[in-house]
Amino acid sequence: MSRVTPAGRPVAFGGRPVTAAPRGPSRLSEPNKEESVVSRPSVIIVGSGVGGLALAGMLTRQGCEVVVLERSAERRDGLAITIWPNALRAIRRSGGEEMYEAVLKVCEPIHSARMISQSRGPLAAIDLGFLTRRYGVTGQGVTRAELLDTLIALAGAPVRFGAEVSRVSPDGTVVLTDGETLRADVVVGADGVGSTVRRSLLRPGQDDRRENPLESWQGVVDRGGIWTSEGADFHFGPLGTCGIMPLTDDRVYWFVDGSIRTPPTGEGWPDVVRALVAATPAEQLFPGQAWDRRPVRRWGRGRVTLLGDAAHPILPTIGQGACMALEDAGVLAARIAQDPDPVCALRRYEDDRYPRVLGHFKKARGMLRMRALPGAVRDRMLAALPDRTITRMYTESTVPLPEFS
Ligand SMILES: Cc1cc2nc3c(=O)[nH]c(=O)nc-3n(C[C@H](O)[C@H](O)[C@H](O)COP(=O)(O)OP(=O)(O)OC[C@H]3O[C@@H](n4cnc5c(N)ncnc54)[C@H](O)[C@@H]3O)c2cc1C
Repeated sequence: MSRVTPAGRPVAFGGRPVTAAPRGPSRLSEPNKEESVVSRPSVIIVGSGVGGLALAGMLTRQGCEVVVLERSAERRDGLAITIWPNALRAIRRSGGEEMYEAVLKVCEPIHSARMISQSRGPLAAIDLGFLTRRYGVTGQGVTRAELLDTLIALAGAPVRFGAEVSRVSPDGTVVLTDGETLRADVVVGADGVGSTVRRSLLRPGQDDRRENPLESWQGVVDRGGIWTSEGADFHFGPLGTCGIMPLTDDRVYWFVDGSIRTPPTGEGWPDVVRALVAATPAEQLFPGQAWDRRPVRRWGRGRVTLLGDAAHPILPTIGQGACMALEDAGVLAARIAQDPDPVCALRRYEDDRYPRVLGHFKKARGMLRMRALPGAVRDRMLAALPDRTITRMYTESTVPLPEFS
């Protein structure tokens, strides 16, 4: 393994240490073949979102030297998400029991889900008990703040807040906006949907469009007797879909996405949604936007790869963006552990992830199309389907990868 050392005095025990590189052009040293068999690469992770932090914890547990660079001055907030057995199994296999248990501690299990139409009432009741029977865990509601705090505590690596990356090179060089330059064996861009790392790797003319902007509103609020369900509810409303999820400490997370520019308080939304929105404190009410981009087969170059939204943003319609980032982290950590050549490990990771993320991208778009059907058509269709078919549609994206199941 290797350690972080003061600038100019790198001390390597195998892999290349994360070093402050001299200003101006310099040559990378040839890897020492004898050492590289037993060594673990040094890794710079750009971005301290769910994906970057989980990867840090997984890599430090296998002996890698890791630094996380985060442009925000402090841990970012955000509201809440749901995470599913596919992500939790990836955490358990690549991050170990300690990481898995710590994450579950801040989560609230979701045992069932209902779909409710504007006019026809309940359309489907989904029993999620089979997830626990099959994978040992069901879907979970969690606030981003609590999840990120847990992952920071387990990262085993410095998280440098206020460190904004301006560009990276395929040789493993990372330049910060203040001019500081760092180097490592591997650089992972986990810097979200507008990824600077991805932009650094784009060849001239390569497409950088984001598509399908979905407006969203989210809130976290105490149940306060307004919503008593133990599961998740989905209400199909006039301009979008409202999901309501349980959180720990008797709190509730609600979100609405669609073409919705104001919080869902108006005509057409059910009383429970309007009451939750009205009870949400202003500082817990967030507007947002989501995009997707069709994944490409090869998203890294040389010593650099991408992870999570930086590589393959998907729509939140199947609640799987962060889960995909966590799965990416699990697979990337496994490939780095398996392959003594870090560059080969990165390409194997990209090859292995491409079909999976393409499948989820398509499912998320399919769900958007279903939600956007005229209300009467959508309701008739869902009401006609047996619950077991809707259960399969709702949970197929949550099935763990064979290597983690
Ligand atoms: C309304 C909504 C609901 C959602 N619900 C769910 C859900 O229920 N389940 C689910 O799995 N997913 C959900 N998602 C998707 C999920 O939020 C994202 O897929 C996930 O956060 C991506 O994680 P990430 O680690 O890849 O990136 P991010 O969480 O975006 O983190 C990127 C980090 O990189 C930092 N950064 C950016 N640029 C730089 C730079 N140049 N230098 C240094 N740092 C930088 C950023 O500050 C940030 O901290 C939802 C999304 C939306 C919009």
